[in-house]
Amino acid sequence: MTAETTVYRAERVWTLDAERPRAEALAVRDGRVLAVGTLAEARAAAGPEAREVDLGRATVVPGLVDAHAHIHGLGKSLTTVRLEKAPSVEDVLQRLAKAPASSFQGDWLLGKGWDQNEWPGAAFPGRNDLDAPFPTTPVFLMRVDHHAAWVNGEALRRAGITRDTVDPPGGRILKDANGEPTGVLVDNAMDVVEAAIPAPTREQLETRLRAALERCAQVGLTGVHDAGMDLQAFRTLQAWDAAGTLPLRVYAMAAGQGEQRHAYLEQGPWQGRHLSMRSVKFLADGALGSRGAALHDDYSDEPGQRGLLLLSPEELEARAQAFMARGFQVCIHAIGDRANTLVVDVLLRGAERTGTQALRHRVEHAQILRLEDIRRLGAAGLVASVQPTHATSDMPWAQTRLGPERLKGAYAWRTLKDAGAHLALGSDFPIENPDVLAGLYAARTRQDAKGWPEGGWYPEERLRAAEALEGFTVGPAWASFEEARRGRLKPGLDADFVALSEDPMEGPASALVDARVLATVVAGAEVFRADG
Ligand SMILES: [Zn+2]
Repeated sequence: MTAETTVYRAERVWTLDAERPRAEALAVRDGRVLAVGTLAEARAAAGPEAREVDLGRATVVPGLVDAHAHIHGLGKSLTTVRLEKAPSVEDVLQRLAKAPASSFQGDWLLGKGWDQNEWPGAAFPGRNDLDAPFPTTPVFLMRVDHHAAWVNGEALRRAGITRDTVDPPGGRILKDANGEPTGVLVDNAMDVVEAAIPAPTREQLETRLRAALERCAQVGLTGVHDAGMDLQAFRTLQAWDAAGTLPLRVYAMAAGQGEQRHAYLEQGPWQGRHLSMRSVKFLADGALGSRGAALHDDYSDEPGQRGLLLLSPEELEARAQAFMARGFQVCIHAIGDRANTLVVDVLLRGAERTGTQALRHRVEHAQILRLEDIRRLGAAGLVASVQPTHATSDMPWAQTRLGPERLKGAYAWRTLKDAGAHLALGSDFPIENPDVLAGLYAARTRQDAKGWPEGGWYPEERLRAAEALEGFTVGPAWASFEEARRGRLKPGLDADFVALSEDPMEGPASALVDARVLATVVAGAEVFRADG
């Protein structure tokens, strides 16, 4: 790193530092903040040789961090067939017909992002839709929530799935009235087919990771918490980090669900320059859209169905305690209220038994909770890693699935915060768009981009502007043990910041819908700068 000093001047700088909340300039040297203050103060600290960058009317805020996302998944969705917002099965087929070469892994055609809730009738699709256009090419299409897949007959054949195949634990192979697999696989049943898909080539993986990190820098992210990284991706990022070519900070959670967990457990917590690996991610249940979220009582729109636990409670607890004892922070995905009860139990009991209360264990999503579980989670000071855009994506149909009573503890950010939970906000990309400004907007409004519903969906759970910004800065810093290094802008902290076209603190929330990211700076290095 050079000893060059740079002074950044902007319309305003929000520091999130109580001693000096607002400034107009920042001096940066050796990747750290040297001074924050008036332009004259920053220049005085920087000295006469300093380079100056005038950001004009921009608002500068501390580096934005997505506390729950999937980098490889984003790279995959940027390079395979994108089915988001497809309005019908016919539209999906048209998109598949135009699939680029990068959409194939081996000879398998991959796509993701379909959502039957967007289609007339909202019924699940099936293999029949795919078998005519793709009689011999295996097709694997991930649902928008990553908790169900739609495949064709050739994919079922290669995976060895027939009418006689029984559901694996934590998974469902949907079958028609005649007992034949329909081509929709829920949760762990997807693994059976995924195991038959050849691994990506090294080149394919690198292309995907680069595409994803570039996209993150463009949307103003200086860091990402990766919620379940596979070993191949981790080794690649490790090599980039050693070579100094990893542009953003990546706080990786080891993939704790599959066999790779043994390798991570053996390795133990690991810290690089921009890359850390000191946490592990498990999944307790599925998602609400595919009725895989584990509920205490039946789904309101499917009597008899209560969702799935992906690991037995005993297995989840044993795995969590093994990682805790090895010094890992444990992060567990929990959507449904039954899963959340279990996860709070597992985290509290595990922390107690292993003496690791200081490891800031996390509930990922913390989406639908009984009020008593919110109180327990908050009283223990656990991290609630929540995704504002999940609420605004799910709000059109969540009440149909859950009924009004259960919604009282659903997507309940204000209630969680008031109970004492540490909020860390994220997007869960590629399930949602990585656009962090959309996350800030959703956190403040609980409305879609058009302003629906008026006043916001359960508006009492909205966050104030400063709380939303803290949720993407200070919150993730706490959740990754980095609050003494970043999350705010003050002398000595890392020079991670973002320049925005709009003011996310004092400007109206609606301005965030069309706001632009002008520059993204990580450790004093510009990793993105908008044209013009
Ligand atoms: Zn996720």
